[in-house]
Amino acid sequence: MSEETAVMAQGLRKSYGKVRALRGVDLDVQRGEIFGFLGANGAGKTTTIRCLLDLIRPDSGTVRVLGIDPQADPEAVQARTGYLPGELRLDPNMTVEGALSYFKALRGNEVDWGFVRQLATRLDLDLKPVIKNLSHGNKQKVGVVQALMHRPQLLLLDEPTLGLDPLMQHEVLRLITEAKANGATVFFSSHIMSEVEAVAERVAIIRKGVVVEVAEPASLISRALRRASVRFKQSVDMVPLANVAGVTVLSQDDGTSVLLQVEGEMDGLIKALAAFPVSDFETERPSLEEIFLAYYEDDQKEE
Ligand code: ATP
Repeated sequence: MSEETAVMAQGLRKSYGKVRALRGVDLDVQRGEIFGFLGANGAGKTTTIRCLLDLIRPDSGTVRVLGIDPQADPEAVQARTGYLPGELRLDPNMTVEGALSYFKALRGNEVDWGFVRQLATRLDLDLKPVIKNLSHGNKQKVGVVQALMHRPQLLLLDEPTLGLDPLMQHEVLRLITEAKANGATVFFSSHIMSEVEAVAERVAIIRKGVVVEVAEPASLISRALRRASVRFKQSVDMVPLANVAGVTVLSQDDGTSVLLQVEGEMDGLIKALAAFPVSDFETERPSLEEIFLAYYEDDQKEE
């Protein structure tokens, strides 16, 4: 592990009774990086994050956070980290201000209260109401503020935009980007591809307790299958097109138009098309959302 590594996990395994939540999770997040952790419900995101903070112990595997073994020194990890849990427990009878003061005290009062107010204002969070009267979204904002308040080196955020309206989701993503600009590392889980695409430099996709892909969002897109639709000036024999390596015919219409799926480079298809009377040619990249869903297609088939 290099000095540059902020989060390292190797072979993390964790079962809850018969449920194998993690089946060998590997992660390597660089310092100063915004890293998205994507997975469907139950894929193992929360369990992984909780292992990073020693809130639960993996059955096996190794974890280092900012170079520290969280099992040997959980306080050192927690002091340097801002954590937004999926379910933040707050005293229902405290005011928002009271709850945030409590988190400030837990941080040894090394928190700039002016910054806390600034965060609350940006998230449109009123400090006066009592926690039990807050909507889910406002409770989430309290969680986001407490995670960021001490300007930690590392942010571990479990679904930070959950329950927020689109404007506030956007603001949270901006706060994440600003934290990075100030030198922090951000590791955040999500099941929404578009928000990961918007801010993350790399993304890991976790499926059934295993990281199945780690890549830059842009490279995931460029590696993915593309669709090409071709219209011809007159009816043609499609067989030579269907024989091009990497090309599959998805549908065709009386020999004058065809929808193709192309794996890898477009070069072979374009060369083959040169022999055809083409009147129109369009290609379409799948959205990142479609790529993400493709990792889960087998699960849907099983269901
Ligand atoms: P979500 O987005 O729904 O929070 P996740 O990706 O965070 O999902 P985990 O919460 O880590 O997934 O759960 C992984 C698996 O472990 C799931 O099958 C879940 O039901 C199970 N699980 C998680 N916590 C417990 C627990 N305390 N006891 C029993 N099973 C658990």
